[in-house]
Amino acid sequence: MAVSSRLGALRSQLQEFSVLLVSSLTNIRYLSGFTGSAGLLAVGPDKALLVTDGRYETQAAEQLTASGAPVELEVAGVAGQRQALARFVDDLGCRRMGLEAGNVTWARLKAFQEEWFPGVELVPSEGCVEALRARKDPGELDRMGEAARIADAALAKLLPRLGEGLSEASFGRLLDFEMRELGASEPSFETIVASGPNAAKPHHRPGGRTIEAGEAVVVDFGARFDGYCSDMTRTVWASKPPADAEMRRAISVVAQAQSAGVEAVRAGVCAADVDRVCRDVIADAGFAERFVHSTGHGVGLDIHEAPSVAAASGDTLEAGHVVTVEPGVYIPGVGGVRIEDTVVVTEDGCRPLTLSPKESI
Ligand code: ZN
Ligand code: ZN
Repeated sequence: MAVSSRLGALRSQLQEFSVLLVSSLTNIRYLSGFTGSAGLLAVGPDKALLVTDGRYETQAAEQLTASGAPVELEVAGVAGQRQALARFVDDLGCRRMGLEAGNVTWARLKAFQEEWFPGVELVPSEGCVEALRARKDPGELDRMGEAARIADAALAKLLPRLGEGLSEASFGRLLDFEMRELGASEPSFETIVASGPNAAKPHHRPGGRTIEAGEAVVVDFGARFDGYCSDMTRTVWASKPPADAEMRRAISVVAQAQSAGVEAVRAGVCAADVDRVCRDVIADAGFAERFVHSTGHGVGLDIHEAPSVAAASGDTLEAGHVVTVEPGVYIPGVGGVRIEDTVVVTEDGCRPLTLSPKESI
């Protein structure tokens, strides 16, 4: 991955203030390679400083060396970190510092204002690093492809067991175990297994309910590989397709909407238009009110990140973006359907990363 060039790309966006204090651990990882659970990264016009505590002394030094990111390191307790950052800001003559508005709590802001950086004007900044993260480099795409491959393989191995009378929770645990066996560090989010009427809840938490033959089961899950996530949903069933006629129609409508949405993805297209393409297919079939969420989201180091694929999204898709297309129809008391792929946006279309078959759908 091209970690070492990312600070330069960030600096070209920082005209408003001379230093950005990065506090999001995901953004710190993206910019420096450091994966510890505590730290702050100050990015100035021509130098950057990472502060962290003694638990990460060796790890931080190793990871900065491995990434090649031009970042100085200060390992100290809280007081030492504060002094090092104050010195960094002073040396630059910085009077105005950007904070990550979406990440800094009220309490932390107060501490920064009163104790850490008195005399420095703290200004909110939003989405600077996230905007860079939206476009994936080839190394990132390799990792996301591997995460998707692991999820595909885990599902292929476990689908034959759907008719064994397992509970939703057991099936979910088997999927999670299999993904780890195949090389995932963890599931990329809490696996959703929603059977029968439970599938009417888009984010059902799997429980003790036994999966019965002839029920639609929504399985939404992903793997994390070297930090990067995959995200996929398949609607599957044991033995025979659902008997309910409306469910069978919902299944075929969602499949059409999902493939129309994937076909609409290409560089230069407004993300809102991809949402509209999916929504129109579902509305034309009379299910408009039953598609209760947005069509998709960006995926990367976070399971949900920029860009947003929603009706109200102002984002335009660019080559290298990775987004999901996941329309659904949910019928309270009866069941639900969702189909989701994670795709890489290209100049002339997109390349799906999640490749599990949809034939059973
Ligand atoms: Zn998902
Ligand atoms: Zn998703």
